[in-house]
Amino acid sequence: MIPFNKPYASGKEYEYLKDAVLSGKISGNGKYTKLCHDYFQKKYHFKKALLTSSCTDALEMCAILQDIKEGDEVIMPSYTFVSTSNAYILRGAKIIFADSEVNHPNIDASKIEALITPKTKAICVVHYAGNACEMDTIMALAAKYNLSVSEDAAQAVDSFYKGKPLGSIGDVAAFSFHETKNIISGEGGMLTVNNDKLIDRSEIIWEKGTNRSAFFRGEIDKYGWVDMGSSFLPSELQAAYLYAQLEEMDNIQNRRKSIWNQYYEGLKALETQGKLQLPQIPTYATNNAHMFYLVTNTLEERSALISHLKKHDILAVFHYLSLHDSPFYRDKHDGRDLPNSDRFSNTLLRLPLFFELTDQEVNKIIQSIHQFYTS
Ligand SMILES: *Cc1c(COP(=O)(O)O)cnc(C)c1O
Repeated sequence: MIPFNKPYASGKEYEYLKDAVLSGKISGNGKYTKLCHDYFQKKYHFKKALLTSSCTDALEMCAILQDIKEGDEVIMPSYTFVSTSNAYILRGAKIIFADSEVNHPNIDASKIEALITPKTKAICVVHYAGNACEMDTIMALAAKYNLSVSEDAAQAVDSFYKGKPLGSIGDVAAFSFHETKNIISGEGGMLTVNNDKLIDRSEIIWEKGTNRSAFFRGEIDKYGWVDMGSSFLPSELQAAYLYAQLEEMDNIQNRRKSIWNQYYEGLKALETQGKLQLPQIPTYATNNAHMFYLVTNTLEERSALISHLKKHDILAVFHYLSLHDSPFYRDKHDGRDLPNSDRFSNTLLRLPLFFELTDQEVNKIIQSIHQFYTS
């Protein structure tokens, strides 16, 4: 069976794990955590980077930093992972789900302004498949209505909007290093902070509401409880694994892009014939090859294609189910139809894409899809 995803160790992961254990410190905020923070701050100019145990954790930190309170409204796409909305639900927010673009699962920036009310506090964008949302429009709306912007950049490591790194545009952003993402540490994530006013507080929330980080830097002579917070920081084991992956970033990204391009070239003819649609990357966005997806014409066709591929030992999987229509949110949603989100829920299919996937395997998958559409 060709799996959908396979986590891997591409470089010095075991060496760094061993080093972390032998160093006698495997709790958080040690040598490897600092190496990872420096890497991200230098390479992508994030004003502050803080590793977290997951992107879910980083999103929860975003909602706290954005000062979301009971009854505040937060606008986000319906086509996203539950963690994007849970982070705000946990703070008592009301989620206002927006539709996707016609040709991309990303939030349709042109539909946001109509959803803004006096209660709106924030917009949370999701860079689906690592492709940037239309950030100029979104940041202009945020400035006009005095809203905070968070980026769910879970899938968006090493990807850009008009040359700006994703995760460096909103007030705050959240990345994931879950084993299904490009750069991994099993479970893992990162908060980035770009709004100067939120930087000091981010470190406090990260350290359970204490000013312990400033204490360890020698900036204060004792530390205590100064704000709300939680245990968001990961252990050095996760950070050691992650740092080894970061050292291999170019190698990993190049291989993923090569697989992505092979799929695109191999399936283009089917798109020309109107059998399916391939990903459309907006001109302002880069492709970090997080995911290769195709869009079928109907739900029935997608189910049949999944079965066909399974019969040929290939695991392809669909993705999100519109959150506005989920059992948890259906009766809280205001009833607006979100047709593009629903269409991607029904017809988007993700193909295997991981570092160790071979050219022969990619070719087998392409041939198998052609066979499905010609029989
Ligand atoms: C993977 C993912 C998450 C959650 O990441 P974790 O690290 O597993 O918490 C959140 N949002 C999006 C868009 C994701 O793809």
